[in-house]
This record gives sequence, structure tokens and C-alpha cells, in this order.
Amino acid sequence: MTEKIIPLADIRYASSLPHVPMQVNAPKGLLSDALGRPLRDLRISVTDRCNFRCSYCMPREVFGKDYAFLPQSSLLSFEEITRLARIFVAHGVEKIRLTGGEPLLRKNLEVLIEMLAKLETPAGHPLDITLTTNASLLAKKARSLKGAGLQRVTVSLDGLNDATFRHMNDVDFPVADVLKGIDMAHQVGLAPLKINMVVKRGTNDSEIIPMARHFRHSGAVLRFIEYMDVGATNGWRMDEVMPSAQVIERIRSEFGLAALDANYAGETAERWRYLDGAGEIGVISSVTQAFCGDCNRARLSTEGKLFLCLFASQGHDLRSLLRGHYGDDQIAGAISHIWQARSDRYSELRAALPADSTAIKGLKRVEMSYIGG
Ligand code: SAM
Ligand code: SF4
Ligand code: SF4
Repeated sequence: MTEKIIPLADIRYASSLPHVPMQVNAPKGLLSDALGRPLRDLRISVTDRCNFRCSYCMPREVFGKDYAFLPQSSLLSFEEITRLARIFVAHGVEKIRLTGGEPLLRKNLEVLIEMLAKLETPAGHPLDITLTTNASLLAKKARSLKGAGLQRVTVSLDGLNDATFRHMNDVDFPVADVLKGIDMAHQVGLAPLKINMVVKRGTNDSEIIPMARHFRHSGAVLRFIEYMDVGATNGWRMDEVMPSAQVIERIRSEFGLAALDANYAGETAERWRYLDGAGEIGVISSVTQAFCGDCNRARLSTEGKLFLCLFASQGHDLRSLLRGHYGDDQIAGAISHIWQARSDRYSELRAALPADSTAIKGLKRVEMSYIGG
């Protein structure tokens, strides 16, 4: 029987991809993109909805009650997600992060985690499965998530001052409930825990030291993220970005810090340790110190589009392949082809241009809540 060739137009989003014959029955194995970067990390958005309205991500004026979120029928099912994940793992993915939107809003997420936890890398190692959450439902769900096979969580928390945090999540959600979720995650062993704090100058930079103090000696790794120009709705301005170097300087002068080596190539955070042994912190400097050079991350949107960069404007439609009755080998071939043609390096390009460059302003980037953070 001759294999059905996938029309390239089905998966191609832009004329930038070359018209080469689709590789069917692609050999399994490691992939490199056009800049020599391997594929290691897959982020899967399981919902585009969220119960928070963080102004830097889903500003209320845009994501209001009339906002058209994806209908249920558009979402990849757990079986579809697992099928794609298995193919990605055969191609070198070692780590899967579930995200969104708020991933804990996806009904029965534990079932998906159980399915993913059964996957193994070609070398026979279990997959590293983690999740990023605002923790609003974590106290309730931590135990069942752990039971399903989740290993770790990253919790987003932008400050300890209740008024500041309620203002930033814009749904009046209290800090105390996030802290309860963090405690429960510790208790059930979802560790090591990471805490993400997006720093917006003039909004929550006064929370840097209180957050550092709170998470010292806790075993959790606090990471400070530069406010990024993701999406097209958050009204990003460079003067609201607090460079990581300044964050490090503030913490260094208060507690003393020394730099640490990266755990692995492609790690997004630069690591620092407290000189007095109180633990570790990290900074993610995508604005002031682009790290595209070893970016090994792919993103699968809620409706099954494959994005090659957080700042991409379009994705490759894998759902139409899943629902078009193509075989695993054909889908694997499509993924190989897409990754091998990848040359995205938005942050590096942006850093080389003036902040008000029209080339950057004119880009229609997808929203982070849709593509997955
Ligand atoms: N809702 C979950 C949460 O907040 O943890 C997961 C999805 S959220 C899009 C993933 C991460 O992206 C969060 O840590 C969030 O703080 C971060 N994020 C969202 N918008 C951002 C921006 N404009 N700049 C930097 N980080 C951002
Ligand atoms: Fe929701 Fe997370 Fe975005 Fe905040 S950062 S609006 S919690 S998806
Ligand atoms: Fe990776 Fe794109 Fe971020 Fe560069 S800008 S590090 S290519 S996701």
C-alpha cells in the first residue's frame, strides 16, 4: 500500500517554509532545527481560559465577558494530546510542561497526566512532567495531581502584599490562598517547587525583597521574570521592564549572592545561590539578555497548532492531521519537517532593533494565554 503524502499546505503556515517533498515514515530520533537547536521541551496549553486577568497577560479590557474563547470541539482531546506527545518524545522531547490559560481549569486534568506519565523516552527514562499554575485551585488538587504522576509544579505569584497582588491578578484573588496551594504542593511532594514572579517596574518591584525573604530556606526556587512583550494586548512598554541585572543587584546587596552554572543547555533561568546557604533563585531575562541561541522549546496550542517561538504569529495545524486520519509516521514526518526548518529567534532580533521599531510593532503575535506560557 502506498503511504498517503501529507499536502504541505495542510501544515505550512507561511511561505517561509520551503516547498520540499514531505518526508513520510521519518526515522525516529533526535531533530535539529535550521540553527542546530535540538527539540527537548514541549509546552502544551490545555485551555485558553483563565480565572485571573493579570494585566500583563489577559487584560480585562480585552478578555472581557464577550471574548470568544475556543469552543470545546476545537480543543485537543486527552487522547489526541497523548498521541502527539508520544510522537514528540520519540523525537527527543524529554520534558513536558502543561500550561495555558490556567491548566487546572481543564476538567479531569489528572486523567491526562496519568496518560502522559506512562510515556517513556527512547532510552527508557520516564518523562519529566510539570505544570505552571496560578495556584488558585492547587490546595484542592495537589494531592490528586501528584497521585496521577505529576512530578513538580511552577506557581506564579507576583508579590506578597495583598493589595498589590489583588491589583495584578485583577480578580481580587488573595495571596493567602496561593500560599495555601504552595504549602499543599510542598506537603504532597510536588518538588522542587518553582515560584515565578513577573516584575513590572513601578507596579510590584517593591515586592522583590519581601518575596526573596519569604522563599529563602523554603526549598522553593524563586524566579524573577522580565515583563515581556508577548501577545498584542498588554500595552507593553520598555520603561516598565525591570532588567534582571537590577533585580540581582537589589537581592545581592540585601542577602549576598553568587552565580551558579546552568543545570542543562537551554535552561531559561540564570541561577544564583544565597551565600549563606538559604537556597537558590533565578532570573529569566528574555528582554535584556535574549537566550534564543539554545532555545529547544516547542509549544502546542489548545487547539493543536504547533508554535516554534513564544512570539510567533502563526502555528502549524497538527489537529487537522490528527483528525485527517494520518498515521503516526506521517505526523512524525510533518513534525520533523517543521522543526528542521525552524529559524525563529525573536528575542535576539528584537534586541538588535530599537524598541520603537515598526518591524517589531507591526508583528501580530499570538497571546500567551492561547499558546501556553
Ligand atoms: N496561568 C498559569 C500561570 O499563570 O502560572 C499558566 C500560564 S501563564 C501564561 C505562564 C507564565 O507566563 C506565568 O508564570 C506568567 O506569570 C507568565 N507571563 C504571562 N505574561 C507574561 C508577560 N507579559 N511577561 C512575562 N511573563 C509572563
Ligand atoms: Fe491567567 Fe496565568 Fe495569564 Fe495570569 S499569567 S492571566 S494566571 S494565564
Ligand atoms: Fe525561544 Fe522564541 Fe524565546 Fe527566542 S524568543 S528564546 S526562539 S521562544
